[in-house]
Amino acid sequence: MRRKLAAGNWKMNGLGANLAELEKLSGLHGAPDCEILICPPATLISTARVQAGEQIAIGGQDCHENTSGAHTGDISAEMLKDAGASHVILGHSERREDHDESDSDVRQKACAAIEAGLKVVICVGESLEERETNNTLDIIGGQLAGSIPDQVTGENLVVAYEPIWAIGTGKVPTLDQIGEVHDFIRTRLERRFGEGVGRSARILYGGSVKPGNASEIFAVSNVDGALVGGASLKADDFSAIITAL
Ligand code: 13P
Repeated sequence: MRRKLAAGNWKMNGLGANLAELEKLSGLHGAPDCEILICPPATLISTARVQAGEQIAIGGQDCHENTSGAHTGDISAEMLKDAGASHVILGHSERREDHDESDSDVRQKACAAIEAGLKVVICVGESLEERETNNTLDIIGGQLAGSIPDQVTGENLVVAYEPIWAIGTGKVPTLDQIGEVHDFIRTRLERRFGEGVGRSARILYGGSVKPGNASEIFAVSNVDGALVGGASLKADDFSAIITAL
């Protein structure tokens, strides 16, 4: 049985004062039924690790593919781990777009992250144009094949399906559309990695998840939780989503 995962991606939001939300969240969910992960900006990881308490995991939002070296402004997986992170989000569509990250870049980063002992949350998702031209499954299939390295396990791999057009827009695919993509991802994982890994890896949905739509999304087959942006910034909203899991 896969343990559900509620993951919050704070993106480029959050100053020290915002960690009060994290403390509040840990007060509300002292012994959660699901795993909770918060990925704040890198500047807050080490303080967040202390303030979050035992029950909330802390993650990064990206890492470099190398362990160290002359890469001004970048952060290695080992540094994230050292700061207290246990997970890292990789291949988010905002990284793919803003920083031209390819599937192969994401795969190399994932290798580095796994090497450093981090769990990876690898994001895939189609654009509106790709959806409207019926290319969604081809695009997702290509991203899965190109972005996920061979050495993942059922424990350290999380896939997040985030349709680009649903991120921050208030638009959400139909439940049938979500189910179709999640079933497809599960099948692809089982086919490539075998049933053990394929059935244990968690598949999250992300894109305009809110307290009001979380429970119906979580009821869809092969939805093992959510990767939440805006609604993860406030403890009350995120708490309502966690409770819906
Ligand atoms: P929103 O929940 O704000 O739509 O963002 C989703 C997302 O991109 C999480 O990684």
